[in-house]
Amino acid sequence: NPSKERYDPIEDACWKQSQRVPYLALAKTLQKIEETSARLKIISILSNYFRSVITLSKDDLLPSLYLCLNQLGPAYEAQELGIADTYLMKAIAQCTGRSLSQIKSDAAEIGDLGIVAEQSRSNQRIMFRPSPLTVRSVFNQLTEIAKTTGQSAMNKKIDKIQGLFVSCRDCEARYVIRSLAGKLRIGLAEQSVIQALALACTTTPPCKDFPPKVLDASKKISSDEFKKKADEELLILKSTYSECPNYNLIVPILLEKGLRALPEHCKITPGIPVKPMLAQPTKGVQEVLQRFEGMKFTCEWKYDGERAQIHVLEDGSIKLYSRNMEDNTSKYPDIIADIRQFIKPEVKTCILDAESVAWDQEQQKIMPFQILSTRKRKGADINEIKVHVCVYLFDLLYLNGESFIQKPLIERRNALKENFNMLENKFAFVNSLDTNTMEEVEEFLEESVKGNCEGLMVKTLDIEATYEIAKRSRNWLKLKKDYLDGCGDTLDLVVIGGYTGKGKRTGQYGGFLLASYDADNEEYQTICKIGTGFTEEVLAKHTESLKQLVIPKAKPYYRFDAAHEPDFWFDAVQVWEVKCADLSLSPVYYSGIGLVDPEKGISLRFPRFLRIRDDKSAEQATSSSQVAELYRNQDQIKNQTGTAEKFN
Ligand code: ATP
Repeated sequence: NPSKERYDPIEDACWKQSQRVPYLALAKTLQKIEETSARLKIISILSNYFRSVITLSKDDLLPSLYLCLNQLGPAYEAQELGIADTYLMKAIAQCTGRSLSQIKSDAAEIGDLGIVAEQSRSNQRIMFRPSPLTVRSVFNQLTEIAKTTGQSAMNKKIDKIQGLFVSCRDCEARYVIRSLAGKLRIGLAEQSVIQALALACTTTPPCKDFPPKVLDASKKISSDEFKKKADEELLILKSTYSECPNYNLIVPILLEKGLRALPEHCKITPGIPVKPMLAQPTKGVQEVLQRFEGMKFTCEWKYDGERAQIHVLEDGSIKLYSRNMEDNTSKYPDIIADIRQFIKPEVKTCILDAESVAWDQEQQKIMPFQILSTRKRKGADINEIKVHVCVYLFDLLYLNGESFIQKPLIERRNALKENFNMLENKFAFVNSLDTNTMEEVEEFLEESVKGNCEGLMVKTLDIEATYEIAKRSRNWLKLKKDYLDGCGDTLDLVVIGGYTGKGKRTGQYGGFLLASYDADNEEYQTICKIGTGFTEEVLAKHTESLKQLVIPKAKPYYRFDAAHEPDFWFDAVQVWEVKCADLSLSPVYYSGIGLVDPEKGISLRFPRFLRIRDDKSAEQATSSSQVAELYRNQDQIKNQTGTAEKFN
């Protein structure tokens, strides 16, 4: 009974000690979450479910967690389901005896195949009841479906889907179908799942050393002591997960040794990618110098390529991960083939942070990002590579069994230079200059632009200079060449709507509605309409790809004003990089509403399309709090100088 205020993990669970957790218990929890919009309430509902699992059936914690996250393993191993709707409809039709056209028309009307599946099932009479699904059996079957490859894989998958589907009761079909489609659509972000897990462990410690002592969350949460403990434990879980984003390793430690034992057992390790450290935007050299006054810092060229986190594992193998921790090893066989020449023999294991950049070997110069993006994404054949790359190294996170993330950049950089060799045309250290004069920074910025870079990254060297995993840190500042004619940074926004094109654009979309992602409320908040920056060719391409994403109506987690309702709604998938003149408050856009003004959101003035950001998922788009930050910075600067013109 996840809605009860006071929850007893044993009494209120719908299964008994040591039984497998019924999938229905999880499905009901997900349903409850779907019906709830308050984030704290969502966390409490999920945490109560986890408490029951921890107390009654520990072994089901891991599959429960993955099912909530809609993952089949660590995110970086990317074992995805994402079965196309057409196949799911076929399976639903076959299992329920309804016609495919009925299912299709219901799906078009309701806009959610999960609900169509659930309703189709409840209309159906069955001869005998198959045994109930369990969390583990659903997880295992989903994994099997994802792993089915080879000849007639799709038919085999459909058979398995049908097997799963006939066993569904109640609302189970809704979540099984959505899991198969690859999206749960309940507004449950990973951060909330982590918070729920931490809260569950604080309330009902799973570890044998402390026998499951049941605390009352609703009562204790108000006590300072409980709150302090809960905050500490959440921090431990979060930082463990950022160093070791793999629940297969975290959950067993959590259950056997307790949450507080995590930092000792789950650390940064070659073979497990970490989320990279990110930079904050700035609007000019002046701002950088003010921020870093009295501190030692360095300026590095900001190369315009693709982030590459390079891991050398204990068994000698090499892995390469993207900014989003995707395994890019097979995209860069050329880097892998040459890397040994760059690493000195003393290095047995390491994790390096770098940027791979398209490189013209003949002219010995950097080529633009657009050239790099023409490379094959996966399974590239080394003999067929046309676009060569040079890897520019800028950080060292791990070396020979030792984590370097707590060391200051100056030490990490020294170790980088000591342990690795440059290799002409292939591996280089980033161009850097340690200075603190305005003139030299400006000159270096000019040089970086001439060298085909985006500008500079300015980083603290000794004080406040650790490597902050997954953080957009104030200790790394980006100074982009176009800061003078923009708002300091480009924004990465999600395309959620399209407007019918007119005139030259008839038959295509003529404009688009963009949104930022608000992680706190787990919603997409509109920020502007955009219609410029595209060539006709690009526009035709967008029209093609966005047509695939059309949904019948806005998602409940899209926040928009009726005045800007688009002609077509899109699933929040595509991310575009956009430049603008500045940001202003707006009564009809919702980005960052409540952050700078209680009733107004923030909107972009004169937005222009720059490029598609394939490497970012919708949830990794510029967040509404970043938008608010950009807005505030711009105000500060205006106030300091008195006029906005100086910056335009
Ligand atoms: P963000 O989410 O910060 O907007 P982004 O992917 O849009 O990320 P930028 O903010 O434009 O990227 O810049 C940060 C990126 O710049 C890094 O992720 C990295 O790929 C690249 N980069 C290039 N040169 C450097 C450098 N010297 N140090 C750190 N990062 C660098």
